[in-house]
Amino acid sequence: MNESVQDTLQKARELAEAFAPKAGYWDQTRQYCWENVEQLAQAGIMGMTIPKSLGGQGASFLEVVEIIEEIAKACTLSARIVVEANMGAISAVMAYGTQAQKEFCAPYVLAGDKPAICITEPQAGSAAKDMATTARKQGDRYIINGSKHWITGGGVSKLHLIFAQVLDERGQHKGIGGFIVACNPSNNDLPSGFEIVRHERTMGLCGMPEAELRFTNLEVDETMVLMPPSGFWRGFAELMNAYNSQRVGAGTVAMGIAAGALDHAKNHLKQRHQFGRPLAEFQGLQWMLADMDTRVHASRLMLHEAARSRGPNGSAFPDMTMAARAKLFASENAISVVNDALQMFGARGYGDQEPLERMYRDVRMFTIGGGTAQILRTQIAGSLLDIKTPQTREAYAEQNLPLAAE
Ligand SMILES: Cc1cc2nc3c(=O)[nH]c(=O)nc-3n(C[C@H](O)[C@H](O)[C@H](O)COP(=O)(O)OP(=O)(O)OC[C@H]3O[C@@H](n4cnc5c(N)ncnc54)[C@H](O)[C@@H]3O)c2cc1C
Repeated sequence: MNESVQDTLQKARELAEAFAPKAGYWDQTRQYCWENVEQLAQAGIMGMTIPKSLGGQGASFLEVVEIIEEIAKACTLSARIVVEANMGAISAVMAYGTQAQKEFCAPYVLAGDKPAICITEPQAGSAAKDMATTARKQGDRYIINGSKHWITGGGVSKLHLIFAQVLDERGQHKGIGGFIVACNPSNNDLPSGFEIVRHERTMGLCGMPEAELRFTNLEVDETMVLMPPSGFWRGFAELMNAYNSQRVGAGTVAMGIAAGALDHAKNHLKQRHQFGRPLAEFQGLQWMLADMDTRVHASRLMLHEAARSRGPNGSAFPDMTMAARAKLFASENAISVVNDALQMFGARGYGDQEPLERMYRDVRMFTIGGGTAQILRTQIAGSLLDIKTPQTREAYAEQNLPLAAE
């Protein structure tokens, strides 16, 4: 870890301590934690993976993952913001963007923006390639039509990376591309044809808006098309590689929540007495605690391994299988660790005097968003068995598997 990143890790620990008392407030009021974002930006944590030449720290994924864990122990909302300000959409721009696109996007993130990645649609969730949103070429612009839902940050994010089926001027399909669109939702300053339709009411991660967006003849200059090296046809797979880093980040948030819950459980077992003894003396609870610690530790090792890896052919992103394995293991185990910690608190864990009930609601998301546990298993098995899983309705149909009636 380089010296400036080492300093940033220390600052992250201090910030985590400062964020902890108000984590419940953001949850209860469902507000975005702007004041934390400002402090994260001042500490150089927003956009720390952006290269130094563009104002970032050029931090590695491993370095940022260590910071995410510290913050996630205290405030899940802030940790998720750090993930998306360093991994996902911004890392796709830094890997595949033109110099002008990088120079356009970096200042937003360094100033505190958490870019939104817009893939999922009402009829295209796990089957992301079946998206219906189109971007049709018209002169030097693309015209985007369609809608996206469950877009994290919709309504607070300024930068958006919108995925769409690309059509040429004659309407011929060219593949899937990413389109960079900037707006300022806080001032209601949205480009013409860009609409925030509604927000979801979620069980956890309550301060983070999840929005449905609609695009109606939204115009995007062709200079804002994010084009991976292999063009539109194979480009989607390359753009989705950026998701490998996002997955490692999301898995780390889950693991960080679990590590935080483990700390709370340890303190509680020492302090709470029943039957005239501290709970810590009961072997049933000691063994539970040991299993929780083992799960957190194994998750951390897998996430660090994935963060350290680089994909084949010099890809700028973690290896797909390592990222899938680490997110799968970390997210499922984090749910179980937080559940066990809550159990150790008895009734207190179920009430809102303790942060466990919030952590339990927060951690539940991580086997769903950013690739479900089932899809991650399918990916891992596919790489073990060298099987290419069909990714679209047509691909299933080509295998003579009839489309089911919808
Ligand atoms: C809090 C949150 C934030 C999100 N943020 C974003 C975001 O910022 N941007 C974005 O684009 N999307 C976002 N998403 C969407 C997320 O990526 C999708 O929810 C996810 O890809 C699953 O899609 P789906 O919800 O439509 O489930 P579906 O695809 O309908 O799946 C339903 C169930 O069936 C299972 N399933 C589906 N296909 C298979 C199969 N072939 N084999 C076995 N099981 C299968 C799934 O695992 C799941 O359990 C977010 C979701 C959540 C909950």
